[in-house]
Amino acid sequence: MARNIGSRYTTHQILGRGSAGTVWLGEGPEGPVAVKLLREDLASDQELVGRFVQERTALLGLDHPHVVKVRDLVVDGNDLALVMDLVRGTDLRTRLDRERRLAPEAAVAIITDVAEGLAAAHAAGVVHRDVKPENILLDMEGPLGPGGAHPALLTDFGVAKLIDTPGRTKATRIIGTPDYLAPEIVEGLPPRAAVDIYALATVLYELLAGFTPFGGGHPGAVLRRHVTETVVPLPGIPEELWQLIVQCLAKAPASRLRASELATRLKDVLPLLKGIPPLDVDEPDAEPAPEPYEEDAYATATGAGEPGPRRAAVPLVPGASADSNRDTHTSMRVPAPDELSGGPLGTARAPRPAGAPRPGSARHKAGAVRKRRITLAVAAVVVAGALGAGGYLAASGEDAPPQDSQQSSQP
Ligand code: ADP
Repeated sequence: MARNIGSRYTTHQILGRGSAGTVWLGEGPEGPVAVKLLREDLASDQELVGRFVQERTALLGLDHPHVVKVRDLVVDGNDLALVMDLVRGTDLRTRLDRERRLAPEAAVAIITDVAEGLAAAHAAGVVHRDVKPENILLDMEGPLGPGGAHPALLTDFGVAKLIDTPGRTKATRIIGTPDYLAPEIVEGLPPRAAVDIYALATVLYELLAGFTPFGGGHPGAVLRRHVTETVVPLPGIPEELWQLIVQCLAKAPASRLRASELATRLKDVLPLLKGIPPLDVDEPDAEPAPEPYEEDAYATATGAGEPGPRRAAVPLVPGASADSNRDTHTSMRVPAPDELSGGPLGTARAPRPAGAPRPGSARHKAGAVRKRRITLAVAAVVVAGALGAGGYLAASGEDAPPQDSQQSSQP
């Protein structure tokens, strides 16, 4: 049923759901639009509404072919909505879920687009803070680029910042999606433009490999790996491309490339990638995890089938249910230095040969399945409790200064 949003827009049907709200197909004076309606509890937060209005100029000012244009911000009674250009297509997560890995040329073409969008945002002093495949939309009506890639557009600018309000989080809490979090955020430093570069390089690695460089297991373990581990090389890509990835995954933010530089260097690499098929690597072995976090237990707790999701679906804000179908943000305590110091930098786990079962997985440990099933019910309860605690961590932060300033300096 059509619903009015302010005096100028109506919404018709749901396009997708995210952690902060629901995206609707809508209609405005100039034609179809996408309307992101923020969740009711966010919309009724006066502090957040104030920031929403404050951010208006920065968000509306971003105008670039590879950034989803925000056309309007609407505050209307209980509704708080971002009106955006409608992108007819899909998000990159959906494509990745379907194809698992992309051919290097298509992967680099997509990341080049996003790097260009980020360059424009960073030049305007805006840091995204939540670059991940879910926030990269592919315009299926746009012209095909290198490797047959559709144009990519970055969306959700400013949303992480809006939600990260003083009343909701403490300076010691982390807001973001664990797999894509730059080490300086884990260490409690304010997010600057370089965090977006780290996250984008993580997405590039994921498009090539089919898994993120430091993901897997409990979110705390993921955060630690960002700080203490070095990235495992991917076989089968030109050295020039690998060096770009390494540079953008540097632990020190100042060592990473700027977005515009990254876009230029990626374009230079593109001709070397023609005809290279998707890489033939498989996910590395998971670190041994305590029983409650084992994949099967998680899958049972969340109702998912095997194999279980690798990343934790922890709500970004208290009261949020996890995204309907995918991993999302986490809100955690910043680990103390001694918790992070795993000695000198180690190397993240090496990829397994393609197709090999993961040691410790249910497939591999066929003989252990029956015994494991007995523990699942208990483990599921513990996991559900742990996820609830994630929400609580965010809920318990009060009266603290904001974690960052989105108006950033360059990296
Ligand atoms: P998240 O909170 O996970 O980042 P969003 O709430 O931004 O997700 O979006 C949820 C889904 O809605 C996206 O995965 C995408 O499919 C769809 N969507 C978001 N923005 C647009 C848009 N501008 N045009 C078309 N579809 C969109």
